[in-house]
Amino acid sequence: MTRQEYFASMKKDHGRRVMAVFPAQYPREILWAMNTLPAEVWDPPLEVTAASAHLQTYICSVVKLGLELILSGKTDDIVDGYLFPHTCDSIQNMAAVVNDYVGVDKPVFFFYHPKAPYSQASRVYYHEQLERLARELAKTFGPLNVEELSRRVAQSQDIAALAAKAYQRQAAGTLGVTSAEFYQVLRQGEYLWPDDFQAELTTLTDRPEVEPSAQPTVVISGVLPNPPAVLTILDDLGVRVGGDDFIGGSRRLLTKPTDKTDPFAALTEMYFSLPPCSTKNSPIDERAAYILGLCRDAGADGVIFYEVKFCETELFDVPNLVEEMKAAGLATLVLDIELNEPETGRLRTRIEAFVEMLR
Ligand code: SF4
Repeated sequence: MTRQEYFASMKKDHGRRVMAVFPAQYPREILWAMNTLPAEVWDPPLEVTAASAHLQTYICSVVKLGLELILSGKTDDIVDGYLFPHTCDSIQNMAAVVNDYVGVDKPVFFFYHPKAPYSQASRVYYHEQLERLARELAKTFGPLNVEELSRRVAQSQDIAALAAKAYQRQAAGTLGVTSAEFYQVLRQGEYLWPDDFQAELTTLTDRPEVEPSAQPTVVISGVLPNPPAVLTILDDLGVRVGGDDFIGGSRRLLTKPTDKTDPFAALTEMYFSLPPCSTKNSPIDERAAYILGLCRDAGADGVIFYEVKFCETELFDVPNLVEEMKAAGLATLVLDIELNEPETGRLRTRIEAFVEMLR
């Protein structure tokens, strides 16, 4: 079933709304509780034409492709609204272009996160932003059922526990799937209804354990595992990806369990339990410690910074992180590439040279 067919079936067979959501972190549990499916827009396979007229040339392709998708009209018959989390300046600018200049005939919502350093006031602020978003959505879609929200928050914690188990087995090398297969499953969380995604993760984590093999191992850091060619090249070369520090991966999936019974309080706890991230202004030493921890857990020999071209948010941190990794004796490779870029000889050669160094 294609993604479009899946969305159509969600609407027709389950009476659900579909919300186009831009990266990266947002309280998806509130949408689920309102019978609304978040359809995340990270890297649609489009050629950028119309969007270029509205954007500067040095903007990341997450924004270019997201705006192109809206301008193409391909979302018109599917989505019931748009949600823009204020992840970074580029997404904020795109939200302004869409809402204030281009105009869309569906409601547009915004979600505002606090930025580090965090204090008690940041928690109060985040809690208030959750309630504000719920109120804004309710004006268009009807009231939020708080019991249903509690149920979805609990489900979200179950999903996070499954994701953590998948990452742990990936780190230990006992999962027995290629990196391309691993991320194919994880990325389904960007558009599947939670019950369906939970089933996919359960199938992944229920796989029988395999004996870990002695092979070079890396941790990958960046925005998302695109272009997929990087993963397939690593798989071809027999390199194991033992963990990720992706904005679209562990940095937003691995919330910690909470015993808060109020769903908004639980969501607040979960948000502040996430790993450090460039989009939240997390200090470099916290980010470096997190990546080094991933390397330790996986027994990794190196880190690949797998960055989206013109992602200022990430690229500001990369030089310092590279220094920290080198100081810890790890090999590093920085790839600064466009989303959906096909495999090139140059890309393969750079990765092969890096893998030689690891061996
Ligand atoms: S975090 Fe980076 S890649 Fe993502 S939208 Fe912002 S600038 Fe683009």
